[in-house]
Amino acid sequence: MKLRKILHPAVWLFVLFVSISAISVDRIKIHTESLTGLTSEGRRAGSEGAALAAQYIAGQLGEIGFQTQMQEFGGNRKNVIAKSGTAERYILLGAHYDGQGRGFPSASDNAAGVAVVLEVARELQAKNLPVSLVVAGFDDEEQGLNGSRYYTDHPIYPLQNAAAAIIFDTMGRSFIDLETFALFVLGTEYSKELAEIVRKRTRPEMVILGSDLIGPRSDFAPFAVKRVPYLFFSNATHKDYHGEGDTPDKIDYGRLAEQTSTIAEIVEDIARSSTSPAFLTQPIYPAGEGATLTQYMAHVESEYKDLPPAYRLMFADLKLRLQSDNSRDGLRVTTSALLAIATPSFSRFMLSLILAPYFEGLGKPAIAAASYEEAARWAPEGPTRRQLEERARSLRQ
Ligand SMILES: [Zn+2]
Repeated sequence: MKLRKILHPAVWLFVLFVSISAISVDRIKIHTESLTGLTSEGRRAGSEGAALAAQYIAGQLGEIGFQTQMQEFGGNRKNVIAKSGTAERYILLGAHYDGQGRGFPSASDNAAGVAVVLEVARELQAKNLPVSLVVAGFDDEEQGLNGSRYYTDHPIYPLQNAAAAIIFDTMGRSFIDLETFALFVLGTEYSKELAEIVRKRTRPEMVILGSDLIGPRSDFAPFAVKRVPYLFFSNATHKDYHGEGDTPDKIDYGRLAEQTSTIAEIVEDIARSSTSPAFLTQPIYPAGEGATLTQYMAHVESEYKDLPPAYRLMFADLKLRLQSDNSRDGLRVTTSALLAIATPSFSRFMLSLILAPYFEGLGKPAIAAASYEEAARWAPEGPTRRQLEERARSLRQ
């Protein structure tokens, strides 16, 4: 191409347009800070803080040309539902906006997820897609996925017209506070078409796993029940998850914006795809889950020098097991062990209700005992702790 052509004003206009329409670190940061800073009350479902957050989301969507409505479902709770485009067929982008309440900024969970949705919606709205976009800001996720369950039972836009639901939860911090900043992608197991689109856009930091490894823990689950093909994006849990330290200054906005660009490309690919995703009755799980989780155990072992003995023993056993055992059980238990380390507030439950009984069932009393002992460390002084210690003692005899 001749230089004169490159310098043609129309080209510069095009360059300008591209830079305006790109995913913006600043906008993601502003949305996250705005949602966490609306009030000191936090955003617990039904509270004034949650109502202000709903207003903020509706206002932002209105500004970028979405038709917005509030879907009330009792107790002063409401989903923010917005649509852009005239096509019946649509892609839904969803994230919950409620939080833990007073004293909890709930920045990564899930102000940042909402910020990503707003930014992807803004980016794609300008692209004249052949499908419409529906944005859902769900309320009351934290107490049992109540907003998304209500929405899927009372959809404003028929669910059979949804090409896919793209759900976001807990974004912007690294899993287990590790150096690697993984983007977890769940849900590809229920759609060959979505799996193929994700595969084409795969980046080194993307970790593709079956949703069963975490269970029905976020707003994707009600869509799965209704057989809507879905993808669930998350950077997953960290030491401040559901804690007062989940503050907006700890979000890595640069990395989050990079990942948001990839996500926007994936959503655009789904929108422009000639074959609409179908929901598989029998999931086809992604390849390499065992290898990925084994790699994660190795990351934890090298970054956590004072890793408690329970985890060292579990990891040694699980790494061996995952080499030959392709069952979902081993993968699920490994995920539970990683989540227990990631999130101190879950540790006791994961260790005493899932991990210790699993190893007990395998006839590995030493690992089970170490798991109960580790659970006891996280239990408050009193009968619960004594029971866990007693359990460990009896296994050691
Ligand atoms: Zn959440």
